[in-house]
Amino acid sequence: MDGLERGPVEPVEPLAAVTAHVHRPHLPQDAQVLRHLRLGQPEQLDEIADRPFAAHEDVEDLPPPGFGDRVERVRRRRCSCHATHHIPIWVCVKTHILGTLGARRAVCHDQAMTAGPDGPQRTDARGARRSASASAVLRAVLDEGPIARSTIARRTGLSAAAVTGHSAELARLGLLRELPEAEPRRGVGRPHVPVDLDTGRHVAGALHLAVHHATVALLDLRGNVLVQHEEPHDGLAAEDLLARAAEILDDLLLGHAPDREPLGLGVATGGWVDRASGTVVEHPLLGWRNVPVRDLLAGCTGLAVEVDGHARALVHAERLFGHPRARESVVQLFTGNVVDAAFATGDTVHHGPRSAAGAVAHLPVDDSAEPCRCGRTGCLEATVSEGTLARKAAESGLLARPDFPELLALAASGDSAAARIFHDRARHIGQAAALLLDVLNPAVLVVVDRSVAQVPGCLPAMRDEVRARSRGCTDPEESVVATSFPGHELAIAGGAVLLDVLYDDPLGPLLTRLSHAS
Ligand SMILES: [Zn+2]
Repeated sequence: MDGLERGPVEPVEPLAAVTAHVHRPHLPQDAQVLRHLRLGQPEQLDEIADRPFAAHEDVEDLPPPGFGDRVERVRRRRCSCHATHHIPIWVCVKTHILGTLGARRAVCHDQAMTAGPDGPQRTDARGARRSASASAVLRAVLDEGPIARSTIARRTGLSAAAVTGHSAELARLGLLRELPEAEPRRGVGRPHVPVDLDTGRHVAGALHLAVHHATVALLDLRGNVLVQHEEPHDGLAAEDLLARAAEILDDLLLGHAPDREPLGLGVATGGWVDRASGTVVEHPLLGWRNVPVRDLLAGCTGLAVEVDGHARALVHAERLFGHPRARESVVQLFTGNVVDAAFATGDTVHHGPRSAAGAVAHLPVDDSAEPCRCGRTGCLEATVSEGTLARKAAESGLLARPDFPELLALAASGDSAAARIFHDRARHIGQAAALLLDVLNPAVLVVVDRSVAQVPGCLPAMRDEVRARSRGCTDPEESVVATSFPGHELAIAGGAVLLDVLYDDPLGPLLTRLSHAS
C-alpha cells in the first residue's frame, strides 16, 4: 500500500529519533518511523510528511515484515503535543513504543511480560539490608537535600563510609548528584560537598483512572508534576482505555521529557485494586472486574508498571512529599465519585488480604436516605459522591443538568444554595472522618476532596462534625487536614505508586532493569 516498500525492521537508535522529534519535527520523526516502514524512494518522505491526518486515524494495515507477532495494529496519528505541526506518526502500538521508549534503555517487552504473578521481584534478603540503608540515604536527601554526607550519616545512623558508598551507588544510578561546595572551607579536613536528588535524569510516568476521565502525567523524583493531561474516556472498554493512556504517555515522554529516562509507570484508581498482581479486582463504577492492568500496560508501554488503589497511593504521596505528620501514622479519605480510605502507620501502608482494606463506601451515615447500589440506603459513597450531588442539584432546579464541575464552580463563586449543598456533604464526610479517627487514631487524617480547596467553609464543617462526634480527637484543626497536592492529587497519586517502590528499594528492580538494558 502507499507505494511503499517495506524492509526488515532495524534496531531503532532512539535518542536520535527523540531529539529529532523535538527539534526538527517534520522530517526526522518520519525518518524514525521509516526505519520500520522503509520507503522505496526517499522522495516519498515528503509525500508522507505533507499528508494531513486526523488526530487519531486507525489504519487498516498489516504489520510490516519483521515486526513479529507482537504487533496488534498499526496506526498513524498527529502528535498531540505538537498539534499544529501535523506530524504523521505511524505507530505500531507495541513495537513503536518499545522502539522509542523501551530501547531508550528501559525494558524489553519479554521482561515486562514475564515479571511473574507477583510482579517484579523485590531485592532478595541478602540485599535487603543494603537496600534499606540506601533507601534511608535517599529519603534523607529527599527531605533535606542539598545535604552534606556527614549530615546524612548523623540523621540515618549509618557510618560515614556507608553513606559515601551508598551515595556513590545512587549517583551511578542517576538518583543523586554532587553539588559544588557552597563555600570553600578554610583549613584542614575534607570538604563537605553536598549531594542532592538528580531530578533531571529520570522521570516517573503516572496514570490515574477516574470514573469519567484518565489523568496521564510525568513527575520528577521530588514528586513535582512536570506535565499532566486529562482525557475523557466515557464508553471506552478497559483495553482501549489503557492503550490510549499508553499513547498519551508516549506523547508526553517524547514532547516533554525527551532527554530523561522513564523509570516506569505508576497507576492509581479507585475500587478494589490488588497491588501484588497489578489487577483491578472490582471497580463497579467503571464496570471493571479482574482487569490485569499491570500486564496490559506493561505490554503496551514496555515499561515497568505498578498499580495500587488511589487512597493508598495518596498515602504514599503524603508520606514521601507531603504532610510531615503523615510519617507517624495517617488516614487518607478520598471523596470523589468513588469514596475510599487508606491507613498507614510508620513505614507500613495497610493492604490486608488481596489489598481490600479501606472500603468505606458503604459505611452508614446519619441523616441520609440516599439509595445505594448495594440495596441499602444511607451509605457514605451514595450520599456524598459527586454524581449524587450533581443529580440533587439538578432535581432541585439549581442546575439545568447534573454537572458536578458546574455545581462546584457555582459554590466556589459564592452561590449560597450551592455552598449549602457542599456544607451538608462536608458534615456527612465529617461523620466518616470521626469514626476513622476513633478506630485508627492516626497522627493526621487527610481529606482529598475538590470542594475543600474551592468552597469556603467545607473543611471547617468537617472539623466541627469531628469535634462533635469523635471521642478521641481533641484537636481537629491539627488532625483533619486537606491534601498537600490540591489540583495535582490525581497525577501525584499515579506517580507515587511508582516512586514509593523506588524510595522503598532504590537498588531494586526498577533501576536494575534500566541499568541492565543500557
Ligand atoms: Zn451501600
